[in-house]
Amino acid sequence: MSSAKSSSKERIQLDWGNISLLGGYHIALVIALPIYLIYTVPSWALIGLTALLIAFCLLSITTGYHRLYSHKTYNARPVVEWIMLFFGTLATEGSVLKWSHDHRLHHKHVDTDRDPYGTPKGFWHSHIIWMFKAPAPWNEQLVRDLNRNRLVQFQHRHYEILMLLTNGIAVGAVALILNDLVGALVISLLVRLFIVHHCTWFINSLAHMWGSKPYSTEQSAVNNFFLAFITAGEGYHNYHHTFASDYRNGVRWYQFDPAKYLIWFMSKIGLAKNLKQADRLTIKRNLISADRKLMLTHLESIRHLDRAQIAEMIERIFEPLSNKLVGLKTTTERYRKLKKAGSDELAALKLRMHELHRSISQDTAEWKQLMQFVLKLKPQFAL
Ligand SMILES: [Zn+2]
Ligand SMILES: [Zn+2]
Repeated sequence: MSSAKSSSKERIQLDWGNISLLGGYHIALVIALPIYLIYTVPSWALIGLTALLIAFCLLSITTGYHRLYSHKTYNARPVVEWIMLFFGTLATEGSVLKWSHDHRLHHKHVDTDRDPYGTPKGFWHSHIIWMFKAPAPWNEQLVRDLNRNRLVQFQHRHYEILMLLTNGIAVGAVALILNDLVGALVISLLVRLFIVHHCTWFINSLAHMWGSKPYSTEQSAVNNFFLAFITAGEGYHNYHHTFASDYRNGVRWYQFDPAKYLIWFMSKIGLAKNLKQADRLTIKRNLISADRKLMLTHLESIRHLDRAQIAEMIERIFEPLSNKLVGLKTTTERYRKLKKAGSDELAALKLRMHELHRSISQDTAEWKQLMQFVLKLKPQFAL
């Protein structure tokens, strides 16, 4: 009897503001879009301007809300902050303070009950349902740094009015330029919100479910090119959860990450500085640690009869390679330090670095061969 009473008391509290806003515009879209398309074919100009607004919104969320404010991966000039906050507000994803608070909770408690949009509760929970529930208790400590930022505070205090204002300005501008109010309301408002929101939400849902884990296997975040493509570069989420303070998500030059290019470009013209990035030797060490776990898990899952022997082979390359990477990192750091002062030790250090480079290349080639061999092994069962 008492447990029935307490379970009814523990009823889920709902966030009616979010339910009305998100539910409301989805219903409006489902009704308005088909009717609009029956009577009109949207012009290329309308599609183009909306695409531009979508790009600005997504870039402001990734470059501003996420990498500048939530993770502080670089510093930006106030003019950049103004632009990011304008288009971030237009994206209608809440104030940067609230967004960063939830996102920092997500990183801190990933895959646990305390993660506001954790995937253990399923795709739809991380994608949208979490926003229908009352928010997690506010932890002031988590955003103390952002509370000192006047622009952030201003946006947080007046978020609702600013959200209406930015959307009004954007829709009004499109309507005035094209002399098409209905098109602006349906395409530049409703369709834009739908695309921007679902693309962002895929990072909380699909980017923790569908893809590869080259950098760390301990948590659910994955790398996925398709998601990077539709989210201005946020799809390399496994890398991001491993090196969250790096301004890049797609760490390799060929990985599609427009936010990374934009931050780099801003740093070249004096609009951004102090770009943080993980050093390549630490990244490589993470890569081989994840490879090692992948191989050992594979051996265990296929119940290979020689798994003890093969596991020994894995450790025989892994341990020295890992140590050499640490050794190269410390030697390089020492070399750089002494180079400024000038020292007799420099020649010896240079030689050591050269040897380590050569040895690491050999070990890496061997490691790759071993990976190919192990991951191709088929299941074996004892008789
Ligand atoms: Zn995540
Ligand atoms: Zn993050």
